[in-house]
Amino acid sequence: MEEIRTGVNVAEIFGKNVFNDTVMQERLPKKIYKELKRTIEEGKELDLATADVIAHEMKEWAIEKGATHYTHWFQPLTGVTAEKHDSFISAPMSNGKVLMSFSGKELIKGEPDASSFPSGGLRATFEARGYTAWDPTSPAFVKKDENGCILYIPTAFCSYTGEALDQKTPLLRSMEAINKQALRFLRLFGNTTSKRVKPSVGIEQEYFLVDRQKYLQRKDLVFTGRTLFGAMPPKGQELDDHYFGSIRARIASFMKEVNEELWRLGVTAKTQHNEVAPAQHELAPIYMECNVAVDHNQLIMETLKKVAEKQGLHCLLHEKPFAGVNGSGKHDNWSLTTDDGKNLLDPGKTPHENIQFLLMLLCVLRAVDKHSALLRESAADPGNDHRLGSSEAPPAIISVFLGEQLEDVLEQLVNTGNATHSLKGGKLQTGVKTLPGLNKDATDRNRTSPFAFTGNKFEFRMLGSRDSAAAPNVVLNTIVAESLCETCDMLEKAEDFDKAVHDIIKEYATEHQRIVFNGNGYAQEWVEEAERRGLPNLSSMVDAIPALVSEDAIRMFEKFHVFTEAELRSRAEIKYEAYSKAVNIEARTMIDVASKHIIPAVIRYTRTLAETVNAVTQAGAQAEVQLGLLNDTGRLLKEAKEALDILIAETGKASEMGEGEDQARRFREHVVPAMDALRRPVDELEMIVDKEVWPMPSYGDLIFEV
Ligand code: ADP
Ligand code: MG
Repeated sequence: MEEIRTGVNVAEIFGKNVFNDTVMQERLPKKIYKELKRTIEEGKELDLATADVIAHEMKEWAIEKGATHYTHWFQPLTGVTAEKHDSFISAPMSNGKVLMSFSGKELIKGEPDASSFPSGGLRATFEARGYTAWDPTSPAFVKKDENGCILYIPTAFCSYTGEALDQKTPLLRSMEAINKQALRFLRLFGNTTSKRVKPSVGIEQEYFLVDRQKYLQRKDLVFTGRTLFGAMPPKGQELDDHYFGSIRARIASFMKEVNEELWRLGVTAKTQHNEVAPAQHELAPIYMECNVAVDHNQLIMETLKKVAEKQGLHCLLHEKPFAGVNGSGKHDNWSLTTDDGKNLLDPGKTPHENIQFLLMLLCVLRAVDKHSALLRESAADPGNDHRLGSSEAPPAIISVFLGEQLEDVLEQLVNTGNATHSLKGGKLQTGVKTLPGLNKDATDRNRTSPFAFTGNKFEFRMLGSRDSAAAPNVVLNTIVAESLCETCDMLEKAEDFDKAVHDIIKEYATEHQRIVFNGNGYAQEWVEEAERRGLPNLSSMVDAIPALVSEDAIRMFEKFHVFTEAELRSRAEIKYEAYSKAVNIEARTMIDVASKHIIPAVIRYTRTLAETVNAVTQAGAQAEVQLGLLNDTGRLLKEAKEALDILIAETGKASEMGEGEDQARRFREHVVPAMDALRRPVDELEMIVDKEVWPMPSYGDLIFEV
């Protein structure tokens, strides 16, 4: 890693370890390159002979980079990526030497042992085996470090009969669905040239960095990714200059290495900054097509973890590592782009573009309103339950922020059927058709909105920081595809196109106005207002999961060939299980830490206090303070022990139940409150017990002393 220390030429290292378009163009025979491009751009199937040539060149290139193995890299439903390494060597020849080989078949299809990946019952009814299939639209790359060099081939993961067992398969299907419907939509507006429409996605990633040694002293962080105990430090979410200075040097060095690793992998790491909370940071790449962006986000998370470890740090990707301190999320910036570079969410400059934009905008609005529970569900994970709705992240209620200008246009449409003027803009001449070019800066920022229009894209801000960004994009792509499809169905039949567009715009604006909210999403009034509007407020993952298998969801996903009903049901099962497992592990970790570390430490402390009281009293002095402290400690210790016993009983009951929805509910309704009840006295104890005695680093140690 010499080049790291000697400064970097970004242009030179960018994409250096990627089998990207330039490399393919250089190395592949023209005909083969063209075939592959057709597959990538038009979704045409690749024949085996072509795949053989590509595989050979890919292997040669990888070996030149130092690769010894290849892996089909996939994203099972565990939330993290999976890989199994195969070396390139083939059977030894008679002279005892080995050949390095890699066939088209090996490139296209792999067969990992799938039995221990979650399938939600799918594999019980079908085959036990799973297959990985190359996704040629996401480039292969090599990962290189002290431990070796491996060729990574992004793949989808399916069962023998084609059921999706992963995140990527439905994502690719949803991209197909939206491509088809968006093209229909464009044709209606006279576009005959665009050949493909793809969702463009830019994912901002938040994370915390803590010192690795301190991290290792916190069993709760090690086992669950978040602190299960911990009193707030006396200082709030700010640092003094001294601390700030020392943090910056260490973090800057971390970010530098992360960026360089990512650039080599072709990830366009672009923005980095400190976040609201101390020790919290953010990294954002430049947006890419949806499936590549989701793959890259996985690489970003892996790289953050890996580099942190190397530098004596630990990267926490949990949604809520510290109670009372801002949590971490992901922002999913989403728009639709044609192959000839048009952004369908750009308001544009001409009236013609404006009306197309307005209808597109309303189609998204309608999709989000109709399927808000599903969208909320797509961001559900156990960690996000601690973040959503606690006045630091978006509430658990989906609403759309449009900004003053667009909201005003919408209001006019609802009231009069026409928009005759635009705030901060010029006078409109003839109704909606001549909406002027909307000024991007007229959309003010609203940090509290879960789904905000930001000039030429939507920003979905509910995603959990640890979660794959696939599911939210699957939902977004599919619900918008459905909305576009239903709109095109009407418009294709219309006799007077302009009038039909006008009527649909008015209808959608009226029917779905309730989803628009520009106010403060953190306020309690909004929770009440949302209830009046009939918007779902799904505060926990367990409450959100049923949306995945609602009649509406099943009908829609089947219609657009994104999920079968069986796949949806299996996913719901997996999610209930994942929830129960996560809470179970947290509860057991709490029990362990409380009984083996905290309570014994507090008992030792009470003994010291008692001895002090005796000694001071014997010496003839007053020991009031010591006695008061001893009484307080004793009272809290008793409370903690009682809460611990209840938690043990509740966890036992819940974990004995069969897996599924009922069990998840039991964990949510009985174990989670029991955990809170134990935490309360323990955090109070931490405030009064001698720091020397407390068995683990405090919040202050963790987040102010990185
Ligand atoms: P912020 O939300 O902090 O203001 P930016 O506006 O710079 O950040 O963008 C955040 C993310 O949105 C980046 O990943 C960026 O590449 C991405 N982005 C920008 N324009 C688009 C677009 N048209 N479609 C999708 N993503 C976009
Ligand atoms: Mg943002």
